Amino acid sequence: MSETILYDVMILGGGPAGMTAGIYAARGGLKAVIIEKASPGGQIAITPHIENYPGFETIGGLELAFKMKQQCEFLGVEFIFDSVVELELLGSIKYAITSYSGKFEAKSVIIATGASPRPLGIPRENALVGGGVSYCATCDGNFYKNKPVAVIGGGNTAVEDALYLQNFASEVYLIHRRDSFRADAHLSEKVQESGVKIIWDSVAIELVGARKLEAIKVLNLKTKEVEEIPVNGLFVAVGQRPSSDGLPGVALDGNGYIPTDETLKTNIEGVFAAGDIRPKLLRQVVTAVADGALAADSAIKYLS
Ligand code: NAP
Repeated sequence: MSETILYDVMILGGGPAGMTAGIYAARGGLKAVIIEKASPGGQIAITPHIENYPGFETIGGLELAFKMKQQCEFLGVEFIFDSVVELELLGSIKYAITSYSGKFEAKSVIIATGASPRPLGIPRENALVGGGVSYCATCDGNFYKNKPVAVIGGGNTAVEDALYLQNFASEVYLIHRRDSFRADAHLSEKVQESGVKIIWDSVAIELVGARKLEAIKVLNLKTKEVEEIPVNGLFVAVGQRPSSDGLPGVALDGNGYIPTDETLKTNIEGVFAAGDIRPKLLRQVVTAVADGALAADSAIKYLS
């Protein structure tokens, strides 16, 4: 039987925060492992273009994710692509048991599990996932060549998704519950000049279609009129929820995020949190990577 390796730091989540923590930990002389349940990059892996990460006027999210992964690997950070099924954080040696890759022990842990798209919570949304409802325009946009689609939301993700879907779809509707976007000003201006059909002050109330989406019923919150818009694809972009399930002993705030002090320490000795999993005002790649660096630095200080 192979011996369990004792790492200095185990990083849960391989998005920008986790991978930056890996880079800083390795450069600080720590033996680091990143456990990621999906693919490297987290939310950026499903972002078509990033235009506000310094050094790149524009870069694909997936490309940036793979550059970060390459840098980690160059520095000797190990990657495990697997789900954690059991986690013990309270002792001086912490451990994670994964579905297929065994047990990982470490002297410190950085939680960088990020956030995932929030569902709308309307009837038939769940039933039509895979039949027209999607939470990732980059992943699924290609399936809607010359077909009408809608995006719901008014933040950066929704606006970017609507612009991206114009590359494929015959019509793109952007449905937002208010009469102004939350998205950055330049994106808001761009989408209003792009040919995307914007439906203001409206919410989706019902999805039409037995096994495949055929239309969305949309309620105008001001006029109270209900309109049926024929679409084959619906991209939900109404924000995120923290991926903070299965973290025993870790204190969460009322919204499920992990509060930390300024050193990114959680309520548990030797356990730090970084990136979108923390309550914060600005969730961007730059703020995530800044957290990753700080959490690794704090882990280095904790271990010494
Ligand atoms: P977000 O900024 O929280 O925006 C969510 C949008 O969905 C808001 O417009 C909100 O409306 C709407 N919404 C929420 N619940 C809804 C519901 N039940 N029904 C209908 N609409 C609903 O989320 P996000 O766009 O996913 O962005 C998350 C974070 O990542 C943000 O900090 C964002 O800046 C960042 N991000 C940045 C970039 C970039 O800089 N290029 C790209 C993507 C994401 P209200 O406006 O009325 O609240």
